[in-house]
Amino acid sequence: MTSELLGCIDADRLQHLTLDLVRIRSYTGDTREVAAFYARHLEQIGLEVEVLRDFPNAPCVVARLRGVGGGPTLELNGHLDTVPVDHPAPYVADGRVYGRGAADMKGGLAAMAEAAEVIAESGRRLKGDVLLVAHGLHEAPDGHGEDIRELVRRGVKGDAVIITEISADVLPVVGLGLSIFDATVRRPGDASHELLTPPGTPHPIRGAVSLVNLMEVRHAELARNPLPYVGAESYFLGTLHGGDFFNRWTNACRVVGTRRYGPDTAFADVEAELREMVGRVEAETGCSVDLALTRVRDGFRVAETEPIVVALREAYRAVAGRELPLVGSRMVGDAPIFIQEGGVPAVYHGPGGTGAHADLESVPIAELVRAAKVYVLTTLSYVGCESR
Ligand SMILES: [Zn+2]
Repeated sequence: MTSELLGCIDADRLQHLTLDLVRIRSYTGDTREVAAFYARHLEQIGLEVEVLRDFPNAPCVVARLRGVGGGPTLELNGHLDTVPVDHPAPYVADGRVYGRGAADMKGGLAAMAEAAEVIAESGRRLKGDVLLVAHGLHEAPDGHGEDIRELVRRGVKGDAVIITEISADVLPVVGLGLSIFDATVRRPGDASHELLTPPGTPHPIRGAVSLVNLMEVRHAELARNPLPYVGAESYFLGTLHGGDFFNRWTNACRVVGTRRYGPDTAFADVEAELREMVGRVEAETGCSVDLALTRVRDGFRVAETEPIVVALREAYRAVAGRELPLVGSRMVGDAPIFIQEGGVPAVYHGPGGTGAHADLESVPIAELVRAAKVYVLTTLSYVGCESR
């Protein structure tokens, strides 16, 4: 009986594991200690564990609960690193675990380990494998997901992936990608007195304004074509800096912001669009523009009919007693790495915590239990289970 199995999910064990994990400081790119701890834990609960040290200070933990064969592999994936921001010492109060990383996302790592432990203990014969992967190069600016990119490139991946964070009571099936533009508009020579600069000299602030206007026009055009679930692609202006004195003719002005794009827009299209704008600004204003465009993550889409989507929604319905609505997400996570580069579907589902990247982070123990139950049921139905 599956209800018997769900009854084995142990709230105390979940609380302790989450607390143990948040007690180990693990800023991005410096996650050796927490990786070693997590690897040991997964070994103790009976998984085959490998620690891969391609990135020596941020090893990847790859653990497997082997099936008997004949079913697909489900990957549960989480990051071990946290943002490098101080937090009060970890504690438990009001049914919640507090500590840096409690919500983002050591609670998710604890819940996926608990699900694997309960399935392993039950002695059930799974058809496919359950793969647990934990990694430490997630949070920007020090991490870019390069560690899981490398795993995916080498084929260390499931046939479907649940990333155990970001979303707890809705299921994103479309996500926008994120790129960051950083454009510096220049003219030759040094800044000079307004009246002592020859008329007709290119004016970098005017050039920057032209660029911003082109972005605004494109933004309005994009806004007229919202994508299903997720809304419209966008330009956003974060900073504009130029000039240093009221009557000095500046020689540079810098514009930085985001360009968010849908799953059917390639990063190369975004880059071409911006290069075209830059070319127009240069031709019209006589300024030159240095453009740097950083791809953070691409957009993604998962079909509503994917077996992992169906299995997760059924499991959620059984555990929570309500539907898991399909939505779009403008948040940036690791799903596109699996979908675009690995060619396998990936979804976000974790325990619902609060305070990611904030001063005080916490996760309710009841949410750890709920997520672990959802993982158990999703695993059994997705990888298949020999009847007994
Ligand atoms: Zn996270």
